[in-house]
Amino acid sequence: MVKIALAGNPNCGKTMLFNALTGSNQYVGNWAGVTVEAKEGRLKGESDVVIADLPGIYSLSPYTPEEIVSRNYLVNEEPDAILNIIDGTNLERNLYLTTQLCEIGIPVIMAINMIDIVRKNGDVINSEEISEHFGCVCFEISALKGTGVKKCAKKAVELARNNKGVPPVHHSFDDRVESAIHFISALLPDGTDMLHKRYYATKIFERDRLVVEDFGNFNDVESLIKDVEKYYDDDSESIIADQRYKYITSCIDECRTKSGKTPVSEKIDSIVTNKYLSLPIFALIMFGVYYLSVSTLGGSLAELIEAHIFGENGIPFIAESFLNKVACAPWLTSLIVDGIIAGVGAVLTFVPQIIVLFIFLSFLEDCGYMSRIAFIMDKLFRKFGLSGKSFIPILVGTGCGVPGIMSSRTIENVNERRMTIITTTFIPCGAKLPVIALIASALFGKAWWVAPSAYFIGIASIICSGILLKKTKLFSGEVSPFVMELPSYHMPTLKSVARATWDRTWSYIKKAGTIILLASCGVWFLSTFGFYGGKFGMVQHMDHSVLAYIGNFIRDIFIPLGFGTWQASVATLLGLAAKEEIVGVFGVLYDNIGEGFTALSGYSFLIFNLLCAPCVAAMSAIRREMNSVKWTAFAISYQCIFAYCTSLAVYQIALFITGGGMTMGTIAALIIITIFIFMLFRKPYKAKASK
Ligand code: GDP
Ligand code: MG
Repeated sequence: MVKIALAGNPNCGKTMLFNALTGSNQYVGNWAGVTVEAKEGRLKGESDVVIADLPGIYSLSPYTPEEIVSRNYLVNEEPDAILNIIDGTNLERNLYLTTQLCEIGIPVIMAINMIDIVRKNGDVINSEEISEHFGCVCFEISALKGTGVKKCAKKAVELARNNKGVPPVHHSFDDRVESAIHFISALLPDGTDMLHKRYYATKIFERDRLVVEDFGNFNDVESLIKDVEKYYDDDSESIIADQRYKYITSCIDECRTKSGKTPVSEKIDSIVTNKYLSLPIFALIMFGVYYLSVSTLGGSLAELIEAHIFGENGIPFIAESFLNKVACAPWLTSLIVDGIIAGVGAVLTFVPQIIVLFIFLSFLEDCGYMSRIAFIMDKLFRKFGLSGKSFIPILVGTGCGVPGIMSSRTIENVNERRMTIITTTFIPCGAKLPVIALIASALFGKAWWVAPSAYFIGIASIICSGILLKKTKLFSGEVSPFVMELPSYHMPTLKSVARATWDRTWSYIKKAGTIILLASCGVWFLSTFGFYGGKFGMVQHMDHSVLAYIGNFIRDIFIPLGFGTWQASVATLLGLAAKEEIVGVFGVLYDNIGEGFTALSGYSFLIFNLLCAPCVAAMSAIRREMNSVKWTAFAISYQCIFAYCTSLAVYQIALFITGGGMTMGTIAALIIITIFIFMLFRKPYKAKASK
């Protein structure tokens, strides 16, 4: 069994190569910080070769949890070879990591990726020259197009199989630094893995906290480091970094010829990231995406399905007549038709909308546009004391909140990370789309603005929450700098868009077949049985059912929001299992949801369910990432309170405007709005300067 680790900078194409090599279907996103955990898979056709996809790293000095994952994997899991993926459009920064990987003591194979873009820009990279400089084999590949991938993998397997001890390190530091590293190396205890000695010595020289913790302090080392620092008039970490960069710059001059053309990407960016145009373009694009997927394109497809498959004359009718013919017990017929088919069918009706949405989102992500959004948002966020880094989890969260919350790991600053975890699920995920679509079509006659408004309410909630949380003592502090490099634009391949879309759609369908199926049975049972006339049994009218009893128990809290019915309360409650289930519940309980809502109360219901606590899967992701029960409780309470206040304010004010008169509700709404405005505009908390 041999193990090959894929290592490289964020967004250089590791996961895409991993998918190509192993046939798996991991999330590929065109921005940094998508992969946050090590993933292993078997090489296609070679069952004894394990390939590991690691989170992207810029160096072996980790700052964030996912960078620590990568480094630990490389050093402690002892892969037999490291396949170093290098973004060919950004050699300088990528090779910085390569110099460090070469020091670990494991054979390195270099793969210069994105060679398609390099060639399109007219640049030439001399991989043989690079190979000589770094002392390892070097291939030019394109993970996207498949160029050179097979050859490169073959060589990597060969090297991993014949892994013979420590490969020589070709690049070296100045004599002074080298001798310090040798000195430290000699001090390392005998048990230390021979392979990694140079790596550990360099890290100790850099005073790497984690490595120093492992080895304890050696006498003399600190004074030695201080001497070297004095000589260069710099701290040890910078000395090392500086010398690495000098070395790389000298190599690159020999290894690459630039054509001097302005790359196409820069031309597109001059419009798309333009100071005045960027936000309107973004708004327009997202408006288009939601409008098309919910109302027009996706909506019409969904109607077709509704009419022919899950409608009156479709599956329910066929199933019912079949079950009657075979003289199935009436309760079982009811369970199958009114419970399972109605609930699961209601959720599956929205598959076309999900597909259309994900095609657009995958395209926007993969071509490189979405990472511009983080960059554009950074400028806007910064004005409010937030960093654009928080936007990446939000982008991931438009697919599903769980990976969205997980990708907050890339945020170093604890306050910013917590704030991002709290707000990420405000963005409508795929599972919330059916709820939006249902309200938009059943209560608003597919009005053009309903679906896009859900997205913008999500964004506005994130921005407002960011502002008001940042002003509290809990989250005060400096905004950390955000350096985002923009990947080159490229035309996504049909295959990669189809894969990403299918992956997300399939997980939606799978949920319909599992959680939703179970929940529908439960909802059917609880809505059919109840206590009536002193005994438990099937009830004539749903209002006497157990479900109604449960709903009635909590519905009072929702009266100020306009949807204080037992049905809506139950739907909200079950939405915590999975947001699609809201649609499933209505499928079982209503023939037409117009029976239970007015347009206004429906919209208020929508806002509340978009913003309140997410589903259990996302809540447990919050719990994992916060790593604290207290913070998890804070996050979930904040989300619920924020959702409640927003829905209440929108509902009551709209009611007043549409002639509902001044009521207690209106006054409550005005109070909430006043407090909200105060919290948005008050002075931020400043820690008192300590004396
Ligand atoms: P990771 O962060 O290193 O795992 O990178 P991903 O595999 O998620 O890929 C990042 C982005 O680069 C995606 O949008 C890919 O489509 C794109 N990409 C990966 N390899 C290539 C390539 O060879 N050529 C081009 N043009 N794009 C690529
Ligand atoms: Mg990745």
